[in-house]
Amino acid sequence: MEDLRIITTSGTDTVLDEATVQGFKTSVRGPLLRPGDAGYDEARTVWNGMIDRKPALIARCAGVADVIHAVNFARTHHLLVSVRGGGHNVTGTAVCDGGLMIDLSQMRSVRVDPSRRTVRAEGGTKWVDFDHETQAFGLATTGGTCSDTGIAGLTLGGGIGWLGGKYGLASDNLISVDIVTADGQFRTASATEHADLFWGVRGGGGNFGVVTSFEYQLYPVGPLVLGGMVLHPFDQAKAVFNFYSEFSSDIPDELTTACGFLTSPAGQPAVAMVACYNGPLEAGEEVLRPLREFGPPLEDHLQPMPYTQIQQMFDEAWGIGRQYYVKAPWVKEISSDAIDILIAHYAKVTSPLSVALFVQKSGAMSRGPHDKTAFGHRDARYGLLITSMWLDPRESERHIRWARGLSAAIEPYTSGGEYINDLGQEAEEGRARIKAGYGANYERLVVLKNKYDPLNLFRHNQNICG
Ligand SMILES: Cc1cc2nc3c(=O)[nH]c(=O)nc-3n(C[C@H](O)[C@H](O)[C@H](O)COP(=O)(O)OP(=O)(O)OC[C@H]3O[C@@H](n4cnc5c(N)ncnc54)[C@H](O)[C@@H]3O)c2cc1C
Repeated sequence: MEDLRIITTSGTDTVLDEATVQGFKTSVRGPLLRPGDAGYDEARTVWNGMIDRKPALIARCAGVADVIHAVNFARTHHLLVSVRGGGHNVTGTAVCDGGLMIDLSQMRSVRVDPSRRTVRAEGGTKWVDFDHETQAFGLATTGGTCSDTGIAGLTLGGGIGWLGGKYGLASDNLISVDIVTADGQFRTASATEHADLFWGVRGGGGNFGVVTSFEYQLYPVGPLVLGGMVLHPFDQAKAVFNFYSEFSSDIPDELTTACGFLTSPAGQPAVAMVACYNGPLEAGEEVLRPLREFGPPLEDHLQPMPYTQIQQMFDEAWGIGRQYYVKAPWVKEISSDAIDILIAHYAKVTSPLSVALFVQKSGAMSRGPHDKTAFGHRDARYGLLITSMWLDPRESERHIRWARGLSAAIEPYTSGGEYINDLGQEAEEGRARIKAGYGANYERLVVLKNKYDPLNLFRHNQNICG
């Protein structure tokens, strides 16, 4: 190994001599990768093909001890650090340029306790792993709607999913986390241990440390749920959104929905209403009848399906390695003016792959005070997920402009703030948007950040500081 040039937290670079790097390498069980090493490029590649960053070092952690060594090494040498869970964040916060990436992607073990209906899953676990293990026992908890997404980033930022109407956000179902904080200490945070930290990790993102495992409450689910989508032609959009706005405002907790524009499998722009009913199938048929009868739809794909199937329903549409840009403002209600803006904008969409979806966040996900956990947008009933998606990197500018244009036009109808899990870092977003992402909980999060990470080691994220 040669001496290593590496970026520090102040943004300047420093040189670590060979012996120092070698000492770190021998202290960890997993591989420590540098540019040129076998596996380096694979380790720095994330879901969004637009992200092309090159860490000076990647610590592919094999377990908690490796995480502790990596955090201590980073703090001692004042290194810029990023933390990788599932690698699905659209803005690529998992990968830093020139610093140390603490990579948990090899830590994917999941242990279900069927008698207590709980599960403990490591920090690099993806929802595909999680659902596979928990459904073997007929159990589940609210998780992401793309199976390749990591449990870590998703849960730390809140976590919306098909079971959320009944069971709340993914983070609402946490029982505890094991976390290595910036001082290198391993802590368990729960309602009874480090309760302040436990409040913060349920919505405060990756600001407080590296979570090595998550413990969740599980519930009997499936094996079948009633779900899928109905498709309507683009020229019926106004009527469909009006219907959806009313329909989705009064539904049982068992049902969670989404509605928006996409391109149909036949290549036509279409409006989709998407649903997942988690309860007795006959009762679900009744609840979903108006959705089926409205129109009627061009295509009706609502059917009983395994819970694991609905969890993978969007995997192809949001395929790995394409170019992506996302905006995700919160919305309290779907007003007629907001619908008009959405329709006018989607009529000018720059890529047939792009999607604009209202994702419902109601029922148990929206109940309770704003400071129930650190998740700051409890009362927003929908997120508008604007996803620009394209294949040719040379076209990026116009597709990004389209998403930003829609986001700006719809802003007067949003409830203020965006989903932090879809926000970029401060340099791109500006401080005000980051603060708004945490909503009214921001000041309390600053106090917590200063307690557990006073040097702001964990800054390569939607950063809380002040
Ligand atoms: C296709 C797609 C579908 C999505 N669907 C949903 C959805 O249904 N519901 C929803 O709520 N969100 C959804 N999201 C948003 C998702 O929650 C975020 O992208 C989230 O950051 C992904 O988590 P990850 O672990 O894969 O991220 P990574 O890219 O690995 O990490 C993102 C950030 O999370 C933090 N982090 C990751 N792992 C750890 C850890 N072990 N300890 C501490 N901090 C950590 C770090 O700050 C890191 O920078 C979706 C995103 C995409 C791209």
